[in-house]
Amino acid sequence: MGSKKGSNTHTGTKPASSSMSKSKITLLVLLVAILFAVFKKDKGYGPFPECNKDSLTLFHQQLQGYYHASSDVAGYKELHGECAFSKTYKDARQKFLVAAGKVKSAKTSKYKVADDLYIDVVDIPGDPDNILISTSGVHGPEGFAGSGIQTSVLSMLSNTKEMSALYAKAASTLLKAENTDEDGEPTTPPTDLPPTLIFIHAVNPYGFANNRRFNEDNIDLNRNFLTDEKFAEVRARDPNFAGYVDIDFLINPTWMPFGTITGLNDIWGHLKSVYAVTRYGITTIKRALVAGNYFRQDGLGFGGFTRSKSAQLLIQISAERRLENAKRVVLIDHHTGLGPSGTDTLALLGKNDVNFTKLINDTFPKELDGDLIVGGDKASDAEGSAMSGYELTIGTMDHFCETWMHPKGDHTKDILCLTQEFGTVPVVEVGKAQMEENFAYHYGNDEQKKVYGERLKGVFYVETEKWMRNVAHRGVTLWMQAYGYVEQS
Ligand SMILES: [Zn+2]
Repeated sequence: MGSKKGSNTHTGTKPASSSMSKSKITLLVLLVAILFAVFKKDKGYGPFPECNKDSLTLFHQQLQGYYHASSDVAGYKELHGECAFSKTYKDARQKFLVAAGKVKSAKTSKYKVADDLYIDVVDIPGDPDNILISTSGVHGPEGFAGSGIQTSVLSMLSNTKEMSALYAKAASTLLKAENTDEDGEPTTPPTDLPPTLIFIHAVNPYGFANNRRFNEDNIDLNRNFLTDEKFAEVRARDPNFAGYVDIDFLINPTWMPFGTITGLNDIWGHLKSVYAVTRYGITTIKRALVAGNYFRQDGLGFGGFTRSKSAQLLIQISAERRLENAKRVVLIDHHTGLGPSGTDTLALLGKNDVNFTKLINDTFPKELDGDLIVGGDKASDAEGSAMSGYELTIGTMDHFCETWMHPKGDHTKDILCLTQEFGTVPVVEVGKAQMEENFAYHYGNDEQKKVYGERLKGVFYVETEKWMRNVAHRGVTLWMQAYGYVEQS
């Protein structure tokens, strides 16, 4: 205090001219501050100009509506979901971690895939018997949607008083239960715990960061979850068993006739597609493509010769959390690229009995706007539907659940692995973009890599306000439905 007094006395003795220039400087600083504030506001709160500070506040209020299920604020057309979306992997990761940091009992851990590329895991402790998991970015840029959904759900958890209180209480109950008596039994056994929540962000961070559906070894992770025995089996089978070799000329070009003139290459690509679709039919091509290949390392849908780094890490993440001991697990894996734009189709682990179908329809009802399905349609094998042609596909996240959460083949456990698949652009465009990008990655020049990489991102991520709002809305809705199901047990 004494020294401050001294300095006040000193300023008081300054000449008048100096204090005049001082007031000018103050005025200038004020002006700059005002201009800065104005421009900062115009720049928006996230990467999208639609999301400003007011919009973000409204978004958080709207998310509370999902917990209270008051549909007046929760409509898919109004939810300001764009605030949870990003333009790059780095920003998506940052947003996800910031949102997780606001949930008081959340613990984050990172699993390195390569330099600056991580699978991030958020654990929100609750009942270890009942677990709800969300995974994003198995297919690289499809992670923009999944990350947006995960960030929305985490924001809902921190912005909803009831949810925050529930998980804060669970954390303290679990802490007390760590005190055990001489027999190793908890002195205060935990009861009434809400489900444990796990969010796994960017299963394929390399693809997410580099506009690739595949990973650093060109592996499609959703074909890679195989046991050693299964790898031996698929490597020994006829490569053309699903027609892959027949359509190789179409899907795996190693040159483009018009170099970097993308417009002419597009026409060439369309002509080839028309020829192939006319000759083989779209479902046959799709089946050959989605069945994957286990022999051509630079080809589309390469399932790997062995389990990838990401697959190994996911198995490790599951083992560390002892997921195989849980009684009820629901895993939602977020994807994009198939089905009507902005709405989701649910694909499920193949349990085809009547009771199971009823359970799924009751737990995850379709969402209708009049007669129009706006989300939650169930996958069918019908020609032309989002998930048709998948009957020969193996090594997917479903197989991860089946194999690594059922280590002893215990099928009495209640494990539900859902794929939530959001439509983007027409399927022919999605297929074409994958072929072009895969060509550019292996055989193209820098310009082609850039152009076709951006194009690939565009077919899996529709950067419009409407699309992002639909995705956020349906993502949060499905998560809440799954939460309700896990909580019931
Ligand atoms: Zn996908």
